[in-house]
Amino acid sequence: MKALSDGALCKAANEKMTVNLSEDDIAKLSETAQAAALKGYAPYSRYHVGAALLYDDGTIVTGANFENASYGMTLCAETVAVAKASSEGRRKGLRAVAIAGGRVENGALVMDSAPVTPCGRCRQVLNEVIGAPDSSALVICSTSNDPVLFDFSDLLPQPFGPAQLGIETE
Ligand SMILES: [Zn+2]
Repeated sequence: MKALSDGALCKAANEKMTVNLSEDDIAKLSETAQAAALKGYAPYSRYHVGAALLYDDGTIVTGANFENASYGMTLCAETVAVAKASSEGRRKGLRAVAIAGGRVENGALVMDSAPVTPCGRCRQVLNEVIGAPDSSALVICSTSNDPVLFDFSDLLPQPFGPAQLGIETE
């Protein structure tokens, strides 16, 4: 496994974080999230978001945003991906999450130079699986340039999770 170094494809938002994923894997996961975003249902905001969850057996589970005419019932891509994975029995062994968002023009995703990070609600949803046994906390946020990497604890410090309820999840 190659460690990231200066001049690497990806930039870690926090220089102290450890990245245990190769640049190729990071790039592939980012591209998978971008492809998922094209499948987003976003007739209201016109902002498509895709998410890709990489598990320790190499499986990638994707999700895309699913908007609703009521607006408030909209489901984010990350939430869709986590629910999809959970419904397939995957609640452990998450290695990384990639997220990509932007507008679709001529069938292509047009992203901004700033990273698209998970919304507050999705950070709480992701905490349920990132805090699970054998799961890690790398969040890969795609941009129009190189992906930016975050440690999940920087995105959601002091999380509320099963530990606060005295529960060990399976
Ligand atoms: Zn969200």
